[in-house]
Amino acid sequence: MQNENSVCWMNGEIIPAEQAVISVFDHGLLYGDGVFEGIRFYNGKAFRSSEHLKRLQDSAKVLNIDIPYSDATLNKAIENLIDENGAETGYIRLIVTRGVGSLGIDPTNCHQPMVVMMASPLSIVSVEKRQKGLRVMIAGVRRMPVDVLDPRVKSLNYLNNVMAKMQANAAGMDEAIMLNVAGNVAEGSADNVFVVKDGILYTPDVSCGALEGITRNIVIDIAKDSGIAVIESRLTSYDMYNADECFLTGTGVELLPVAEVDGRKMKTCPGEMFALIEKGFHKVIQEETQ
Ligand code: PLP
Repeated sequence: MQNENSVCWMNGEIIPAEQAVISVFDHGLLYGDGVFEGIRFYNGKAFRSSEHLKRLQDSAKVLNIDIPYSDATLNKAIENLIDENGAETGYIRLIVTRGVGSLGIDPTNCHQPMVVMMASPLSIVSVEKRQKGLRVMIAGVRRMPVDVLDPRVKSLNYLNNVMAKMQANAAGMDEAIMLNVAGNVAEGSADNVFVVKDGILYTPDVSCGALEGITRNIVIDIAKDSGIAVIESRLTSYDMYNADECFLTGTGVELLPVAEVDGRKMKTCPGEMFALIEKGFHKVIQEETQ
């Protein structure tokens, strides 16, 4: 959300948000040719920014976009943006596009990547939903196959995720779970999926078409440190319908319990394992941002 004090960091400078505009010839706009990250800040400090910057660099590498700023510069820019923003908690969107070029897809026409960051408050889920759990559906829209566009690339091309989310909206559901083309669970429209069965925590292997979520990795670490067995594997709708617990994870949503999948109620929501891991997650945030 933009307020009168809103600022952005754009190509090396902090500028008023209304001046942060991109060209209609930018290939990020024309072809979705670019990458992005969403980074939370808590207590005025970016959370896991180095992991986000690493994923940004890895995604950009696949597209052969050479980000013209070092991680140190980007980290400093994130710090400055948080300071300028003034809020203790919020969300930063960091976008890198191929830059301005001519009206053909050929990226060799673009000579200077465009880098922009904006900060905003983020409260995308109501307290009630957090307490009662989400109603989710398995979407008909499939996740992009790994051999077409590897979902580990966090690109500006999110159309099938957008369409899955639209399907959930039209059905009055809170979120869409996307399968891959083989029918295995990949992830939510902008979050990773976990299920609990008989005390074991399962999540789709990233080869099933999931983004390797930073929150996902934190959850896996917390579970392992707590002595919980974690299995990254292939899961189907059967596993989701028969789960004892289910939850979603992401920078935007943090950890969110799921109450039902396609009308099949989870055994417990929020479940015991969810509560334990959520507590651990908030502890990690406090430890790293105090
Ligand atoms: N999956 C998709 C498609 C996403 O866009 C996101 C969020 O960025 C996630 C999963 C969760 O990843 P992270 O925990 O790194 O935010």
